[in-house]
Amino acid sequence: MSQSLPDIELLSEVPSPTSAHARTAPLHHRSVYIETYGCQMNVADTEVVASILSDAGYRIVDGPEDANVILVNTCAVRENAEKRVIGRVGQLHGLRRTRPDLTIGVLGCMAQHLTDTLPARAPFVDLIAGPDAYQRLPELLAQTADETLLDTRLSRTENYVGIDPVRKEGTNAWVTIIRGCDKFCTFCVVPYVRGRERSVPSDEILRQVRELAESGFREVTLLGQTVNSYDDGQRSFAQLLDEVAQIDGIRRIRFTSPYPADFNDETIEAMGRLPQVCPSLHLPVQSGSDPQLEAMRRGYSIGEYRQLVQRLRTEIPDLAITTDIIVGFCGESDDDFRQTVELMQEVRFDSAFMFRYSERSGTFAHKGMADDVPDDVKGARLQQIIEMQESISRETNQTWVGRTVEVLVEGRSRRPDADGQPTYFGRSPQGKVTILSDPVEMNQLVQVKIERTTSHTLYGALQR
Ligand code: SF4
Repeated sequence: MSQSLPDIELLSEVPSPTSAHARTAPLHHRSVYIETYGCQMNVADTEVVASILSDAGYRIVDGPEDANVILVNTCAVRENAEKRVIGRVGQLHGLRRTRPDLTIGVLGCMAQHLTDTLPARAPFVDLIAGPDAYQRLPELLAQTADETLLDTRLSRTENYVGIDPVRKEGTNAWVTIIRGCDKFCTFCVVPYVRGRERSVPSDEILRQVRELAESGFREVTLLGQTVNSYDDGQRSFAQLLDEVAQIDGIRRIRFTSPYPADFNDETIEAMGRLPQVCPSLHLPVQSGSDPQLEAMRRGYSIGEYRQLVQRLRTEIPDLAITTDIIVGFCGESDDDFRQTVELMQEVRFDSAFMFRYSERSGTFAHKGMADDVPDDVKGARLQQIIEMQESISRETNQTWVGRTVEVLVEGRSRRPDADGQPTYFGRSPQGKVTILSDPVEMNQLVQVKIERTTSHTLYGALQR
């Protein structure tokens, strides 16, 4: 895709005239609570932050009540998420009534996005740090000056190499393999808040995965905004998949989110050949209309997307495909929307994240395109595709009834069955949540015969 790429910069560290307290607890008495919003990249970043702060002597705690430092790791992708986080930070500020030395920090994409306005909107925040500033957090937090610190330098190289994320015990570990994004889709704020694309060195990724396997994780999900664009100069994405698959103990490999235009034969071939790579793919399409894809600068036509889906389905049996769709983007006509509906009916995605377009400041669309689809039209279009997708998902899941699937057990479900007995859940290779009543242990791979389904869940019984 040819387009001029804006340059992203900068560090600013400015004292706020409005902050009014000093952080007095010595470092070794400090405990940190981190609250996370947004995508899996943010979850993985929180694990990096926890690791950096633990190494610096902080204790990581599970609730804000036990903490004298609260960090909120935020998301800027949608306006609603930003509003929710501002509300939440205000709520946490209320804790200062009884704990005046509480430190509150805002991290991540929203911190980066609202660098200029957040100090005025939430003057009680002590620290604002962007996604590339986490190595400097101990230094920033150790300062006792009564001022708001702002560190939103974006780096072209920061990959947090050598830092072992603090992961919760579980079946799946998130492993970030590529940071930032160079695509600059016109609606998206990510390249501005996460910086330019850079691949984590593959030796570092393989080291992390080996250690994860040794500590009992059976599944890894490789993460990146455009995960299949991975190339560290030593290994391509397909070569990385090959090597991860050779690591003893790793039974399942997933990755999210791939960029449709960056799929190549080598990757599709590896997906079809390696049994560890799960037949499940989140393949964001955004729209079914070429003029809309062009306006979004997605870098592929809808014909190319269709061909890709066809190829993937030919090479990878039982592949589940999910997607993202935006309705009401700038200039979306009735005909553009009709084409999105037709695409959804034709591809029959297993599920979809569907959104109505909302402008994000700083993006190409915000600066140069009219947000001209009326709100009620956006709402009606969204409602229409949500209902349609719900019935497609229900029908797609029904095709699993009577089949046996391998489930990696994640634990006990929150809800008991109709008789009040505990139930257990895990995921099928297609990523579908599967519930069973038979007692099973976490991290076990079990065979489950599917008996009934809903649009979101499969239900079945253990095959012994
Ligand atoms: S590829 Fe994804 S993260 Fe990158 S700009 Fe486009 S929508 Fe945003």
